[in-house]
Amino acid sequence: MKHSLIRPGFVTNFSCIGGECEDSCCYGWNIHIDKQSYKKTLAHSELKVLAKTALKKVKKSEQVWAQAVLNEEGACGFLDENKLCQIHAKAGEALLSNTCKTYPRMSHMRGGDRYDSLSLSCPEAARNILLRPDAFNLQRTEIGHSRSYKAAPLWAQKAYDYSIQLLLKPEQPLELGLTAIGILMNTVDRAAKGEVESSAIDSMFQQLIVLSDNGQLKQHFEGFNQDTDVHQMHAFTSIQLWLNTNKVRRGRSRFELINQAICSMADDDKNISMSSINQAWKEIAEPTLGGHQELFSRYLLYYFYHMNFPQVDKLTPSQAFRVMLLDFFMLRCYLAVIAAKNNGLSEHDIIMCFQVYHTNRQHKANYSQFAVDLLDKAKFTDLAAILTLLS
Ligand code: SF4
Repeated sequence: MKHSLIRPGFVTNFSCIGGECEDSCCYGWNIHIDKQSYKKTLAHSELKVLAKTALKKVKKSEQVWAQAVLNEEGACGFLDENKLCQIHAKAGEALLSNTCKTYPRMSHMRGGDRYDSLSLSCPEAARNILLRPDAFNLQRTEIGHSRSYKAAPLWAQKAYDYSIQLLLKPEQPLELGLTAIGILMNTVDRAAKGEVESSAIDSMFQQLIVLSDNGQLKQHFEGFNQDTDVHQMHAFTSIQLWLNTNKVRRGRSRFELINQAICSMADDDKNISMSSINQAWKEIAEPTLGGHQELFSRYLLYYFYHMNFPQVDKLTPSQAFRVMLLDFFMLRCYLAVIAAKNNGLSEHDIIMCFQVYHTNRQHKANYSQFAVDLLDKAKFTDLAAILTLLS
C-alpha cells in the first residue's frame, strides 16, 4: 500500500557534532544496547577488551540487553580522550546500538504515513529546529509498507490542520492564535467524544477567523487575563520543584544554571515573585529576542508536528492544549531568568533553555499526566484559567 514519508528540513539537515556538543548524549543517562550490538561489540577484535568493562548485561529485552557503564564523570566508557566514540571510530556506524544509531531521530505514524522528527533534548537538533530558516521545509516521498494502519480520526486531522493555521495566521499575535486554539479544542473535545459532528470543528474555525479579524478575539483574551501572578507562580514553582526532584543525570550542570538564575531573582527576604520574572521577560528577554521573532511560533509548530497535537499521549484535546501552554510558559520563564542573570540572551542561552527543559521533560514518561494532575489541582481547568499563563 502506498503511503508518505514526511521529513522536515530540520531532520534532513541534522548531523551530530560529536565532540563539539555542549551536552553530549554520551553522558549521564541510560544508554541501552540491543542484543545484536552487544554480541558484535564483544566479538570485535579492537573493542572486546574495553567492552567487558564498558558494558553491563541487564537482559531486560532484546532491545535493552545491556547498558553502557558510565564513569565517575557520567561519560560512556567508549568515549576516548577527545570525547569521540570508539565504537564508531573502530567499527563504524553499523556496530552502534540502535539507541546510539538513531538518537535524536524519532518518528511517528499517522494513518500509515511516517513523520520524521528529532528530539529537542539534543542541542544541535534544537539549533536546527529553532534557528534554521529552512527547518520546516517539508519533503514528502512515497513509501510502501504491508502493514495496515487505521486512518487518523477526522476530528484529529481537522484539529491539527486548523491549529497550525490559527498559530500561523499572518499579523496575528501569538497569544491570540493560542487563545483561538484553546477555544477550538473545546469543540474538538466534543467531536472526539462523538457529541457533535466533526463539521462543528469547521464552523468553529471559521468563527474564530472572523473573531480574530474583527478584534473580538483580542477582547476575549484581555478579559481572560486578570489576577495572574498567583496562578503563574504556583504553576512555575510546582513544575520546577517536580523537575528538580525527578531530574535526569544528563545535563545536570546546565539544569543547575537555570536553578541558579531563578535563585538570583530572589529579593532580600529570599522570595521570588512572578512579577519580577515577568518584568525580566518584558524588559530584558523579549527585546533581546529581536533577531528571533519567530522563536515561539517555530517551537509551537515543531511541538504540534512532533507531538501529533492534539493526540498527545492519552490526553484529551483540551488537556493536550493545557500541557502545551504550560510548556510554553515554563520556557518563557527560563528565558526570562537567564536573560536577567546574563543581562540579555545569546543564541547559546536560547538553545540551552529549550534543550535543558526538554531533556528533563521529554525523558519522563509520565510527565504529561503529572502536568494535567497539577493543572487540575491548581484549578487550571478551564480556558480562562489556563490563559493566565500567557499574560
Ligand atoms: S546530543 Fe546530539 S549533537 Fe550532541 S552528541 Fe548526541 S546526537 Fe550528537
